[in-house]
Formats: sequence, structure tokens, C-alpha cells
Amino acid sequence: MASDIRDSYQELTKVFKQYSTLGSISSVLQWDMQVNMPPKGAEKRANELALVSGLAHERLTSKRVGELIETCKSANGALGEAERANVREISRDYDRATKVPQELVEALSRQRSLTHDVWGRAREKADFGMFAPELEKLVELTKQLAEAYGHDGTPYNALIDEYEAGATVASLTKMFDEMKVVTVPLAEKVINSKVKAKFAFEKNRFTAEKQKAFGETLIEKIGFDKQGGRLDTSIHPFCSGGLGDVRLTTRYNEHAPQQAIFGIIHEMGHGLYEQGVAKETYGTPLSEALSYGIHESQSRMWENYIGRSLEFWKCFYPQLTSVFGNELAGMSVEDWVLAVNHVERSLVRVEADELTYDLHIILRFEIERDLFAGVISVSDLPKVWNQKIEAYLGITPPNDGKEGVLQDVHWSGGSFGYFPSYSVGNIAAGQLWKKMHADMPTMSAKIEKGEFADILAWLREHVHRHGRRYSRDDLMKMATGKPLGTQDYLSYLEEKFSSLYQL
Ligand code: ZN
Repeated sequence: MASDIRDSYQELTKVFKQYSTLGSISSVLQWDMQVNMPPKGAEKRANELALVSGLAHERLTSKRVGELIETCKSANGALGEAERANVREISRDYDRATKVPQELVEALSRQRSLTHDVWGRAREKADFGMFAPELEKLVELTKQLAEAYGHDGTPYNALIDEYEAGATVASLTKMFDEMKVVTVPLAEKVINSKVKAKFAFEKNRFTAEKQKAFGETLIEKIGFDKQGGRLDTSIHPFCSGGLGDVRLTTRYNEHAPQQAIFGIIHEMGHGLYEQGVAKETYGTPLSEALSYGIHESQSRMWENYIGRSLEFWKCFYPQLTSVFGNELAGMSVEDWVLAVNHVERSLVRVEADELTYDLHIILRFEIERDLFAGVISVSDLPKVWNQKIEAYLGITPPNDGKEGVLQDVHWSGGSFGYFPSYSVGNIAAGQLWKKMHADMPTMSAKIEKGEFADILAWLREHVHRHGRRYSRDDLMKMATGKPLGTQDYLSYLEEKFSSLYQL
């Protein structure tokens, strides 16, 4: 019996590794599409990607995989703890992939393309009315998708689960309400503070070549393994790939160097997670990132907690000014740190600062939650959007386009439930950060000296190497002694911004 189980387990993980390998083939093709491909390659590439993702789907959803999962589950006791976790996670992926009827998969895929297509034009013209009919159809199909996945009476839970297993409308509402109470007045105080960042980067030209050279040196010094990854340029920055081959991309704005510098540190944070997963189980869920939120906790910790700190720049500002001496003339390290922590009422999420970023996420979460609960309808979106941004940020969009309700790509692609993971990442980062400080009292001094090995080792030990072995709350409990909560994150924000802005 036990040997049957072992054989089934071996076969199951073998098939999953093939599925995972097809996934990494497709991610190299996508990377190439965004970084290197000439424009006329689009159709050929679409065919290549469709074939590879079709093969991957077939691998994962075959009847045989279902049987192997059943066999492994029926005699769970014959498997070790890590193996049981692998079966649990493969089963989760299998369920999600097989629960949706083929007609719905196809209808969704068609509707996503149509909605995305009209979104681009509607956004350009700032015409929500043009977008609304297609979005309505997409929301209806997405409700059917939530029904197919199954839920406890709250369809939106089934959608959130895709990105952040274990998170629910109730738990997110509670955390986000706690955050609003602190962040809204804190942002108000910071914006009204007498301390003002003085910077005018747009007057000078920071060449892309120099920015790239600085970024390359920076990530290498921090600990990104260049033998197992690389940095390139693309229109939309991302991180893809895995152990042994992590691809980071960024874009350069020659009049706003901070965008690429922090963009690179952010993507590097994602990349360090991917470089830190366990080698032995590579290709199985045990070596896959736990969730979008935990992935984001890593990128945001490096970008904001470490990258935007005075300690960090005490180490790296001399190097930055050796590259951009003229461009940054007259700017002290303190000026630079204040400039890269500038807080303002902004309309656009991707340009928002660390402090107000969550408010942009919370309003999107609340809209999605209420939309899928039937409390509001698609036609209410512009009105509700403007009311919320007014309430949280004290600012009104001039139109529904790039600065308003149409700004993000997510809804047009049907990615409902994705937004909350950005803020889950911030919250998780706050909690991990606090524990890391307690475990390593000399951390600030290390950052100031440009020594990151111990920080990286701590993250490897407590987060990276576990992959999907534990649930998010179990991982957080093991790493920090408590389940995910907002307290540490909110005190970090209060301390950091009170000190920077002398509140
Ligand atoms: Zn990210």
C-alpha cells in the first residue's frame, strides 16, 4: 500500500513539474515578447503562447491527475508533512482549473479581450459610458466564474482566493478599515507639514544609461545573483522566471530617476524571493511563491522599508552622486531621502507614494466588494470612485480617464480580487520588518554599511524557502509569532512619516 502511494506521489509530482516547466517556457516567451520581440512577431508569438498554455492546462487537468490526487489524499498518513502540503496545493490548482466549464473559460477569454480592447479607447477618450456595457458583461461572467469555483455566499471571496488564498471580504474589510482610520489623517498631517521636499529633477537629464549602470551595481551589492538573473528594459516593469533564471525589467524616465531606481529595487525584491526558494523541490508548489500578497511584501520591503530609508542612502548616495554629480548638485542626502518620500494627494495609483498608496487600493477593494455583492452596479462606478477618492485623499479627478476610474488595466482584463494583494503585501512587510528588527538589533547599522547578507538570510529562512508549504497565516505565525494584522505596519508608517515630517 505505502509503495503504491509513493509511486502515485512520484507520478503526481512528475506531471506537476511538466506543467510547471511549460509555465516557465511561457514566461520566457512573454519576457521576450516584452523585451526583444519585433512588432511583426506578435501573431506568431500569440500562437506559440496559446499552444504552450493549452499544453500546460491539459497536463494539469487530465483525469489521471485527478486519480493520483485522490490516491495520495486517501492515504495521506503514508506521506510526510512536506509531501502532504504538495498534494494539498496541487489539488488546489487542479480544482481551480477543472471546476470551470469549458464554455465559460472560452466566454471569459473572449469577453476579456473585448473589454480590454474597448478599455484602451475609452480611457483615451475618458468615456466611461463607452466601456460600461462590455464591463457589465465581464462582471456577469466573472460572477459565474465565482459560482463555478464555489463560495460561502460571498462570490467575491472566490475571486480574492485566486490571488491571496485564505483572505476574505470580512478579514480584508476589517484590516482596511483599521488602516483608513490611521492613514487618512496621517497623510493629511504630512501634506500640511511645514517640512517640504525640495527637488526639481525634471530640470536635469538623468540618462537611461547611467541610471541602468547604477541600478545594476545596486542590485548586485544588495545580493541579487547576476549569474541567476538579469535586468532589462520593458514598457511595463515586471519580474518573471525562477530559480537560476530570474528576469527583472524596468523603464527609465530621464527626468525622474527615482522611478527606475525604486522600480528596480522593487522588482529585485520579487526576484530575491524567486532566487531563494528551495532547490530540492523546484517545479512543485513547495518552491512556488506563497501568494501575490507575500510576493509583494518582499518587493515592498526592499523598495520602501530599506530602499527609501536614510540609512540606505547614507551608504549609496555617494555612489549616486558620483554618477549624477551635476544633476544632483546642491542636494544633500537628507534632501534626497525627503524627495523620495514626498507625500501628495495623487489621482493615479501607480504614481502614489508609500503613505497614500493603500488608500488607492482600499477604494478599489471596496468598489469590487460592493459590485460583486450587488450593492452597486457598473453604471455607479464613476460616481462611487470620485466620492471615495474625495473622502480618502481630498481630491477630485478631472475626468474618468487616465486620472479616474478608467486608469487601471485590471478590471478590463477581468482581474477582480487582485488589488487587495498590494496592500496585504504592505501589511505583511510591516509585520516581518518589526520581527526582523527584534531578531537583529543592529539591522539599521548594517544597512548603513551596505551589508544585506543577514537581512536576506532572515527572509530566506522565514519566508522564501517555504514556498507554498504553509498557509499565509501559519507562515506569518511561524515567522512573527502572530497571524497577519495591521498593527506593526501602521506603527511603522506613523513613526517613519512623523519623524521625516517632524509631526
Ligand atoms: Zn510588485
